[in-house]
Amino acid sequence: MPRIDNDVKLDFKDVLLRPKRSTLKTRSEVDLLRSFVFRNSKQSYTGIPIVAANMDTVGTFEMARALNKFSLFTAVHKHYTLEEWKEFAINNPDCLQNVAVSAGTGSSDLEKLAAILEHVPDIRYICLDVANGYSEHFVQCVKNVRKRFPDHTIMAGNVMTGEMVEELILAGADIVKVGIGPGSVCTTRIKTGVGYPQLSAIIECADAAHGLNGHIMSDGGCTCPGDVAKAFGAGADFIMLGGMFSGHTQSGGEIFEKNGKKYKLFYGMSSDTAMRKHDGGVADYRASEGKTVEVEFKGDVQETIQDILGGVRSTCTYVGAAKLKELSRRTTFIRVTQQLNPTFK
Ligand code: 5GP
Repeated sequence: MPRIDNDVKLDFKDVLLRPKRSTLKTRSEVDLLRSFVFRNSKQSYTGIPIVAANMDTVGTFEMARALNKFSLFTAVHKHYTLEEWKEFAINNPDCLQNVAVSAGTGSSDLEKLAAILEHVPDIRYICLDVANGYSEHFVQCVKNVRKRFPDHTIMAGNVMTGEMVEELILAGADIVKVGIGPGSVCTTRIKTGVGYPQLSAIIECADAAHGLNGHIMSDGGCTCPGDVAKAFGAGADFIMLGGMFSGHTQSGGEIFEKNGKKYKLFYGMSSDTAMRKHDGGVADYRASEGKTVEVEFKGDVQETIQDILGGVRSTCTYVGAAKLKELSRRTTFIRVTQQLNPTFK
């Protein structure tokens, strides 16, 4: 007989943050830098833990340069060649502290990963990314990569439940990516019916990870700075953004015009578009689980970064958190049935 979990699980749209009395005067007093020491790599990190997703059009070298100026992080997509990485490293040595090299579990990906890390030893982060982090094969892959790179910080995912977060941390991951189905160009929930409301996933997975001195990265589902603040409030150590960083000057792809407006293409990494581009088409045993959308051109990403950081700083002043670190401790979520005033779209 199928089991039903009757506990209500919540998404960003189901809650708002409750303000608290505070002594903070202005949002400029808020410190968004966080410092972590990672459980398995033993490496330390200081930065603003917002991460550009390792998607073709988001995790670009141009994005890494722009984000690094604000101490944000980029999980660079896996389609750059070793030569491109070497050139990037020579010209942007200061950016290497805030980038990860991405790989799937295929042997060609892992060989390329090893070659990049060998030639660019200043890169300290690896992002191991599969759509379904629940497979035994993936756990084994994390173990192998940990063994081969004992001092690199490994981000691995995606999963959405505490027991799998624990398993990946014990296998060698430092930061577990949490989120199945919440992404802006993801169709997993439509195609498979699998998923977990992201706010509850963060709360439960952060609890599991922190119990082992591990960390989590909330991946997918943020639509605005308020969602980013809620994800930090729920306990996310890092937050990965795809759609919010799409459509900028630094995002991949060309600008095109339609009816006098400028656009850029944004697509999921398992969309038809991505599979045609990288794998020569959609294999017949699998369905595409990603959308392709036209995003109105948003200009330089610097403005979006400032908008996000300004929003989160303001959240911190509302709840009385002088540092981002204090935000989750000072978070009380209020369940709501409506968030926004719909008068004007
Ligand atoms: P967003 O910030 O746009 O809501 O979510 C970004 C995340 O969506 C990515 O980091 C990745 O985990 C996920 N994602 C990217 N492409 C695809 C795809 O084609 N299919 C699915 N299911 N998820 C995707």
